[in-house]
Amino acid sequence: MSLSQGRPYLAIPGPSTMPDRVLNAMHRAAPNIYEGALIEMTRSLYPRLRRLADTAAHVAIYIANGHGAWEAANANMFSRGDRALVAATGRFGIGWADSARRMGVEVEMIDFGLSSPADPARIEAALRADTDRRVRAVLVTHVDTATSVRNDVAAIRAAIDAAGHPALLAVDCIASLGCDAFHMDAWGVDVMVSASQKGLMTPPGLGFVWFSDRARAAARQSDLVTPYWSWEPRAEGAEFYQFFCGTAPTHHLFGLDEALTMIAEEGLDHVWARHATLARAVWAAFDAWGRGGDIALNIADPARRAHAVTAARIGGGGAGRLRKWLEVEAGVTLGIGLGMALPSEPAYQDFLRVAHMGHVNAHMTLGVLATMEAGMRALGIPHGTDGLAAAAAVVAGR
Ligand SMILES: *Cc1c(COP(=O)(O)O)cnc(C)c1O
Repeated sequence: MSLSQGRPYLAIPGPSTMPDRVLNAMHRAAPNIYEGALIEMTRSLYPRLRRLADTAAHVAIYIANGHGAWEAANANMFSRGDRALVAATGRFGIGWADSARRMGVEVEMIDFGLSSPADPARIEAALRADTDRRVRAVLVTHVDTATSVRNDVAAIRAAIDAAGHPALLAVDCIASLGCDAFHMDAWGVDVMVSASQKGLMTPPGLGFVWFSDRARAAARQSDLVTPYWSWEPRAEGAEFYQFFCGTAPTHHLFGLDEALTMIAEEGLDHVWARHATLARAVWAAFDAWGRGGDIALNIADPARRAHAVTAARIGGGGAGRLRKWLEVEAGVTLGIGLGMALPSEPAYQDFLRVAHMGHVNAHMTLGVLATMEAGMRALGIPHGTDGLAAAAAVVAGR
């Protein structure tokens, strides 16, 4: 007998759970796009998006997903033949590099593998070796959603400065914004990209690029930029239609407005603390399970783990079997292991990811962990038996 009837829970790292408040804010008739409430509300989004990233930088909003935001940043930052130094710590760093390469940018990749953060010393060495200063920008993910590693962005800035290199620092915060603490200006970030469907709790469809004055000045020489992707009019359009290079994504904007209101009501510091605690509950469960089975978190150092998503290994194909059991028997969908093994390889079934990003609370995360433990019992997957107690202790003792 399946116990999956009831409200389904998509516990994957994006799209994340959409609050009813966000969905209700979108449920309305088409608004006037020439004047009135939509225009006022949209103008109010920009200072709020700046606060979210703790920055005075410009913000451009695109009708796009995260891949579109990558492409927007690339198009503005680079000219054909420029070089990008990419610090890859998982599938998403590699994805951003692919996007740049296919646009005509020469990519120098430092691949830090699938379970380690980027090492700033190696970035510094690569920049020192770039004596003719061809590297235009360093690209890095704050959180790589595939491996759930969280990179030390401030240390990477310090490495660029130590090398005395003028490269821009561009950071992908698609998985981390609104989940993990981020301080764009204090950390010396020039360009930051994000999207609506993860920590921002809004359906997929909005991509964002924050860019500093320095990045803006550098972008004026870019020969890759096309009219739609240019960030200039989007940050400073004289007419409303210029902010979106055409019709505004009206309903997404109403949803985002409500999501930003919810974040402000809770308080950004509290939002970050909530994610940190729920993440620790998940790690505690996995650590306990791992004491009695072939189960392990992907990132060994807690200081370098994301607070939005956790990647883990359950050997012998356990991860794949558990994902299926949760979906069919319990109404919970977990994330696939991404970029850890090819789908054709048996090891592909050894990896999964649990999301705890955006509109999540203690009962949702404890519920996922409880159904996982039930699934491991049902499937005979060997595991330490005090995982739930460990997670509950984190929630109780926060
Ligand atoms: C989700 C994600 C992306 C890709 O976003 P899409 O909306 O799927 O295009 C890129 N980078 C990171 C870090 C992500 O988490």
